[in-house]
Amino acid sequence: MTERSESQEEGRTSLREIEKAAGRPRAAYGTDAQIVCDNLVRIYQTGDVEVQALQGLDLLVGRGEIVAVVGASGSGKSTLLNILSGLDKPTAGAVRVAGRDLMALKARDRLDYRRRAVGFIWQQTARNLLPYLTARENVMLPMSFAGTRRRQRAARAGELLDLLGVADVADRRPAQLSGGQQQRAAIATALANAPEVLFADEPTGELDSATSADVFAAMREANRELGVTVVVVTHDAAVSERVGRTIEIRDGRISTETVRPGADVADGETVVAAQSYAVLDRAGRVQLPREYIDALSLRERVLLGLESDHIGVWPGQGREAEGAQ
Ligand code: ADP
Ligand code: MG
Repeated sequence: MTERSESQEEGRTSLREIEKAAGRPRAAYGTDAQIVCDNLVRIYQTGDVEVQALQGLDLLVGRGEIVAVVGASGSGKSTLLNILSGLDKPTAGAVRVAGRDLMALKARDRLDYRRRAVGFIWQQTARNLLPYLTARENVMLPMSFAGTRRRQRAARAGELLDLLGVADVADRRPAQLSGGQQQRAAIATALANAPEVLFADEPTGELDSATSADVFAAMREANRELGVTVVVVTHDAAVSERVGRTIEIRDGRISTETVRPGADVADGETVVAAQSYAVLDRAGRVQLPREYIDALSLRERVLLGLESDHIGVWPGQGREAEGAQ
């Protein structure tokens, strides 16, 4: 309260305040951060060709946060999610999720991590659910792997299907469900073992926009009701504009963060005013947005000027221009 009135006196909103409003108090980033990526590198090697899918990515996500990840095709979004969910290992860097060091996990602990600590939803609806089981049986299956008693399994499956709004079709098989119902049943399945983090890689990519909004609303409800941290890769502005924080990946690094104060408490229909931040990594690197670079025809090098409260960036002369003089 004091902070708010102080900054109102100054007549501007402090970053701290925006972060607080976005449900992202700095304290959540201490030892308590749910996801910590430090300088993640993932190099794919196929024959002689090397692809650097992640090039020193840093990311912090607080407990209970819901974050959207956007970026052009090939920018490294799926690579990041595969690493975070324990399906793949980075070439270098450090990654901690839900208190576990993913680089150090032994095979058995890795399986346990994937089974209990995290849940995953794929874009392809068919990949999320077993076709010969009903929605209810699909939700119960991961619980039997985890050794949950039958009665508890049935009770929890019922609750989850209800929370995701598909209780009425619980006894149908995936083929008898609409695409949106399948994805909602998939979310219930991913939540079966009460994971701390839910990852979704373009979960609404195959759905029309109205259905996609429903599925996202269901995911958000799960975030609110169960407190599960959500990281969702999406191309869908209807999704990315309704979360407290959107991070953009460019060339295997986080380039921009957009924070929307109040989006977490909005009704889901309102698009909340957004503030974009470039992300400063530990080495002091910042990626300038492509539109800014184009607008001033920046290339090769820029002049920097330190002012008392900001840093200026001016077009510098490219080496070519210099050579021509
Ligand atoms: P996105 O999900 O953002 O579209 P990806 O993470 O799938 O991007 O891919 C990032 C880069 O890594 C791309 O250049 C892609 O071609 C490459 N890549 C992804 N998976 C593999 C793989 N298994 N083998 C070789 N290259 C890969
Ligand atoms: Mg992808």
